[in-house]
Amino acid sequence: MSGTCALPIYIIAALLEEPYILSKCRESLKGIRDIERTTSRLSQGTGNARDLQSLCISLSHIPTLREDYSALPVPHPPLLHDFGELTTLLCAALTDEPPAHLRDGGVIRDGWSPPLDELRDASRGGKDWIARLQEDERKRTGIDSLKIKFNNVFGYFIEITTSHLAKVPGDYTRKQTMSNGERYITPALKEMENKVLGAEERSKQLELELFLEVRARVLTHLPKLQETAAAVAGIDVLCALAEVAQYHRHCRPDLNTGNGFFISNGRHPVLEQTLTDAKFVPNDTELDPDTARLQILTGPNMAGKSTYIRQIALIAVMAQIGAYVPAESATLGLVDRIFCRVGASDDLSRGQSTFMVEMSETALILNHATDRSLVILDEIGRGTATFDGLSIAWAVAEHLHDTIGCRTLFATHYHELTDLANNKQAVANYNVAVREWNEEIIFLHKILPGAADKSYGIQVARLAGLPKVVVERAKSILSHLELHSVKPEAKTQGPKAKNTDQPSLPKPNAPQMDLFADF
Ligand code: ADP
Repeated sequence: MSGTCALPIYIIAALLEEPYILSKCRESLKGIRDIERTTSRLSQGTGNARDLQSLCISLSHIPTLREDYSALPVPHPPLLHDFGELTTLLCAALTDEPPAHLRDGGVIRDGWSPPLDELRDASRGGKDWIARLQEDERKRTGIDSLKIKFNNVFGYFIEITTSHLAKVPGDYTRKQTMSNGERYITPALKEMENKVLGAEERSKQLELELFLEVRARVLTHLPKLQETAAAVAGIDVLCALAEVAQYHRHCRPDLNTGNGFFISNGRHPVLEQTLTDAKFVPNDTELDPDTARLQILTGPNMAGKSTYIRQIALIAVMAQIGAYVPAESATLGLVDRIFCRVGASDDLSRGQSTFMVEMSETALILNHATDRSLVILDEIGRGTATFDGLSIAWAVAEHLHDTIGCRTLFATHYHELTDLANNKQAVANYNVAVREWNEEIIFLHKILPGAADKSYGIQVARLAGLPKVVVERAKSILSHLELHSVKPEAKTQGPKAKNTDQPSLPKPNAPQMDLFADF
């Protein structure tokens, strides 16, 4: 955000204190186009007259923006240079709506260059003469349908239909025979054509030269234009963030150098705006460095785990760029980096399977995160056999807790991981609340302390439309697996005294609730 020297959060706060200034700045910004892009096109020699025109429009809004913005009580106003002279030059030199292609002419305004005006007069005068000639020739020949036309091959010509050919005067020279008539020229018409076309050609050439001259004059201001472009971009970002904070009730975060993350009624800034049939459910976050630095988040698919962990990362990003955040209050310890392992995608063109991509991302996190980082993990180890995957997930969580000591949100379907809370000081379990009602699952999207007690995978699969026969078969396989597995340990966040540092294996899955028994 070069060009804006005061801390963004102070400027946003000042803009929110002065909504009138905010709306005036937003108004001026609406008229300013992308100055940086325009100037870079012009400096590379690719810019056309429309770029100059767009620059002229943008620059004409700078004085009001500068005046409004400087009324804010913040030090070191950004570098919005004065381009009064350049704006006047561009307005005087360019037509209001120049064409996209320079070869079409019509770029330079009448009055800017006397030689150009003379050529244009000659061309316009010639065209008027030709228009009058049509009337005169109709009277002279008595042919009312006589027309003077133009095309690129023959230039100007007189067109007479077959029924009037007997009346064609002797001074007409036939040029072309058509199915319904003949085309003629006269010496006077050809002479005027030469004048018109010559003047047009020269005026286009002159316009091109004049355009290049104006462009060169603009480019003498390049460094100042670039500085102004950067300053405008900075103001634009700040005003947009202030407006978003105002409309969407964002709060000013309290940033500190601690290692905690405390958010009250946090929301996902994008999802809360895009949800149409439901209301977004806000959630609290208490990433306490001593007791809940690594949070294991369990709960069924579709409950809102991914949304929640992304929302915390987004709040961290927003706070650290100096923006307000979507929450009622937020006290956040600064992070040095945010690491995310979310989603499942492969990179087959580079020879990487889904699991390989997942492991590479995990490796990057473990090799680079520090105790000041924020790590969000949305599933680890799902792309391999259950025991492999669980073992990796367990070891990763342990490493993040014991060795790196960073703040971590770990969403997982491995319920076994919740056992970590029993003997790791700063591991805490959270789950996303669901209710069962009339054979349906209701997703409450509320994050609660403690581990989820059930999985609902088969039920969610049924909701997604898996064939009934497959759902039934899955349920029977599951019952069989549960029967032959070791009874799961208690899943609630028990006392830290239970000193186990091994997952309770083998244990294929937490028990499935027997919803939808009767189809
Ligand atoms: P999970 O990761 O647990 O499978 P997601 O985070 O992908 O679940 O959420 C599934 C859907 O639930 C989202 O697409 C969204 O529509 C809805 N959802 C998630 N969190 C919330 C929330 N806090 N409030 C309202 N709807 C939510």
